[in-house]
Formats: sequence, C-alpha cells, structure tokens
Amino acid sequence: MSSRYIPYGRHFLGPDDIQAVVDILNSDWLTQGPMVQQFEQAFASLCGVRYAVAVSSGTAALHLAALAAGFAPGDEVITSPITFVASANCVIYVGAKPVFADIDPKTGCIATDQILAQLTPATRGIIPVHFAGQPCDLAAINTIAREHDLIVIEDAAHALGSSYTVDGHHFKTGCCAHSDMTIFSLHPVKHIAAGEGGVITTNNKKLYDQLCLLRSHGIVKDPERLSANEGPWFYEMQVLGFNYRITDFQCALALSQLKKLDAFVTRRRDIARTYKKAFQDEAALGLIAQRPEVSSSFHIYVILALGLDRADLFNALRERGIGVNVHYIPVHLQPYYRNKFGYRAGDYPLAEEYYRHAITIPLYPAMTNDDVARVIESVRQSIKSLLQ
Ligand SMILES: *Cc1c(COP(=O)(O)O)cnc(C)c1O
Repeated sequence: MSSRYIPYGRHFLGPDDIQAVVDILNSDWLTQGPMVQQFEQAFASLCGVRYAVAVSSGTAALHLAALAAGFAPGDEVITSPITFVASANCVIYVGAKPVFADIDPKTGCIATDQILAQLTPATRGIIPVHFAGQPCDLAAINTIAREHDLIVIEDAAHALGSSYTVDGHHFKTGCCAHSDMTIFSLHPVKHIAAGEGGVITTNNKKLYDQLCLLRSHGIVKDPERLSANEGPWFYEMQVLGFNYRITDFQCALALSQLKKLDAFVTRRRDIARTYKKAFQDEAALGLIAQRPEVSSSFHIYVILALGLDRADLFNALRERGIGVNVHYIPVHLQPYYRNKFGYRAGDYPLAEEYYRHAITIPLYPAMTNDDVARVIESVRQSIKSLLQ
C-alpha cells in the first residue's frame, strides 16, 4: 500500500465536468446566463421541490434564507452547537440571536426535546443541521414549528442525496415537505462541487421571489412589479439586497456534477458500510447511529475515541498519512460566541462530550478500496499501539 496522504474529503471531476465548464467559457455568458436556471431546475426536480435558487455559497444561502424568513433583532433562532459556524452566524447577520439546543448523542443531530427546552416567546425559527448527512427528525421538528409558529430552515449542507420516511411516506432532503426552506453547499468537500456555491430550495412562491430579489441587490426589472416606470431602462431597488449571484460556469460544473450524485452517494454509502463493519466491534471506538427512518448521504464519517485519548489517536493517524479532522468544535464555545452572547463551557454538555471524542476519518467517492483498507488498518494499528 502507498503512503500517500489521504485527505478527509475531496471532490471528483471527470473530463465531462471539465468540458462543461470550457463550453461556457467559450460562450457569450460567464454569469447570469442560461446555466443558472438550468441548474436550478435540475436541482429542484432532483429534490422534488418547486423552486431552487442558486447563490454564491452555502453561507450566502443561509444569510438569504434568514432574511427571507424575516428573522430580525429581538428574535431568537435555535440551531445545533455541533455544526459549521455558518449555521449560527446567519442568525447574527440579520441581527437576531442564535440559541443552541443540545444534540442527541447517538446521532449528533439536534435533539427534539432539547429544542422544546429552548423555546421562549422570542423564538422565531429553527435551523436543524443534518449532521454528517443524516436527516434530523423533521416530522417532530415540523410539529413543534407549527405549534409555535416558527420558520424551519434545514441546513442540508451535509445531506444532498439523503432521504427520510414519515408514516411510510418517502421524502428527499430538500423537498421542504417539513420545512419552509432548505439550504445546500456546493463547496468541493460537499457532495457536488461548483467551486463555491449554494442552493436554497422552497415550495413557497413568496419566499422564492424574495430570495431571487435579495440575491441581486434587491433590484426589480420586471415591469409588472415596478411601482413606477420611466422607460425601458428603468429598474427599482425595492429592498436592501446583495450580490450573492453564482456564475454560469460554476452552474455548468454543478449541473454536470449533479448527474454523478447517485453514483457519488452510492459509493459514500458503500464506504460507510465498510467502516461500520470494521469498527463496530472495536471496543475503544464508538460510532454514530443511523435512525431507521433515514438514509444518510454520508458527507463525513465520524468515529468516537472512547477507550483512549482523542488527541493521541488523531495524532497517530495524521502521522500515518491519514487526513483526519474534527467536526465540530461546538459553536457556542467559539470566542466570538462566548464574548457576544455569554455562552460558556457546560452550557451544552452532550455536544461538548461528543466533541471530546470525535474524529472524522476520510470519506469521499474517489477513495479506492485500497485507500479504505489503509484507513481501517491505520485506525486499528494506532489503537493497538496506543493501548500497549
Ligand atoms: C459547508 C457548510 C456550510 C457553509 O457552506 P459554504 O458553501 O462553505 O459557505 C453551512 N453549514 C454546514 C453544516 C456546512 O457544512
């Protein structure tokens, strides 16, 4: 086996993906051309949702979703402490307060009963994060949201291609059957790559119109939606928006990658199955459980160092050329969050306990079986040498 460094994640581009970008570079449009809409339509149809809005990043998608949701100063929005900082930062962007609900330690996803415990009269929304690619309990979250008049924005940056079942009915993540909006990321480490990019899906026409408006400076050109019309040049800036547009060549890449999604997810699931088989009887390790109602698309694979020190195992794997990582440092413990909101160690004990043990091992579709075997062997050897 080679001793090449195996990263924790990486994109896969085929010659067809590269050609798709070259074709656009040779066309009349680099941005705001036909590929954006083509990609949006393909993405919406894949998710089984009415509308998809492509934007410049997953973070931009979260920001626009938080704005379209109407979150504002004085509001509280609940999300998971075990996520990338962007899931919570979007709440601060719009002047509202991010509040965390502790996780279900079995899945790493936000726990429904912990959401209930965090509700206050100021709560306006929930941003459940489908951690590692496993959908949260959306039916339960949707029930809470309806009872308390809350907006639900799914952060599905990890979960393109995943699905879940409610009362025997099958749902694809992003279909928004149990939420108002869902966001995705097209960062190369996620399921499909656009360089940078993000998508928001929704079934709500009003939200869709608002998202499109906010994506491009809040500027309206459609004569039917202008309050006045001084001529063919006329446009109005009706709300304060941004330039969060994605380019045509990025959408050409994303559209080409979308055709590979099934194969990507199938390979990710294969590798996850192999890891599970290899590690489930390893006494020093814990694994993330999969709820029977879901089918994860496995953005990452986390092992929990239980019978040994996490840092020791992490370092031993890095020394063997295995690109391990940690997902995530609990967001409430970041200095900015401590200083601004007064969060402290001990506030979310289950998230903190999970974090103390978590190690992400390599998982991406282009991993060879030899790569997978080398990761497994390296984990086993490292544990053995550390427990000696
Ligand atoms: C990657 C990620 C984001 C942000 O996406 P970008 O495209 O990198 O801006 C948001 N939430 C989660 C959970 C992520 O993993």
